[in-house]
Amino acid sequence: MTDPTEYVDAHCHLDLFPDPAALVRRIDERRVHTIAVTNAPSVFGHTERLAASSRYVRAAAGLHPELVATHGGELDQLWPCLERTRYVGEVGLDFSTNDAALRTRQRTVFEKILERCAAFRDKTITVHSRRASSDTIDTIGERFPGKVILHWFTGSRREVERAARLGLYFSINPAMVNSQKGRELVDAMPRDRVLTESDGPFVKLGPQPADPTSAPIVLNYLARTWHLEVEQVARAVLANLERSVQREV
Ligand code: MN
Repeated sequence: MTDPTEYVDAHCHLDLFPDPAALVRRIDERRVHTIAVTNAPSVFGHTERLAASSRYVRAAAGLHPELVATHGGELDQLWPCLERTRYVGEVGLDFSTNDAALRTRQRTVFEKILERCAAFRDKTITVHSRRASSDTIDTIGERFPGKVILHWFTGSRREVERAARLGLYFSINPAMVNSQKGRELVDAMPRDRVLTESDGPFVKLGPQPADPTSAPIVLNYLARTWHLEVEQVARAVLANLERSVQREV
């Protein structure tokens, strides 16, 4: 039986799976529109080549906040990558470090990336904000010309509401719908701003990593809480993805 539904994985670390090429084949078979994020400019080329072989994979260029200490020197290598893709990530802030100098450096890097992206006006950025939800939203600000997806958001309900007012999107993974706190936040997110993600291979389903084909787990949760059929939710999420990749006018 063929599954007519198209799915969305707005944040997957395709390059960190043991056999990325095999996963690309499964993504194409299952028709999962996948934003394949990368953690440093030096590895973007690999994912870019994987995406070139696929109808469904889009390569994103990034510099992960937790790698700013070790790979911050690669920032200048990010700029040419931005000429080759409209997708950016993983970028953002991670304040699980208490090192004030490192937090400042992360903020500087994130601000520079947002500034470069703003000039294009058509970037879709997938953003990490662990222990920095409020600072991340403040840094993005009210007038960013592009689309921002807050990935695995773990802030407060008020911060969800503030981000929603600013037009930001949220991508939701199985770990979020499997936790009480995560579900409370998901329930506060506007339906027209919700995307699915795996954050594989970091998010696990038992011993196995979540991957783009795990999207139905989150869709099933949303279908129950929104009182809709799974297919209706899948179509809504796909429509949200289409809006989240449209150029600003
Ligand atoms: Mn990630």
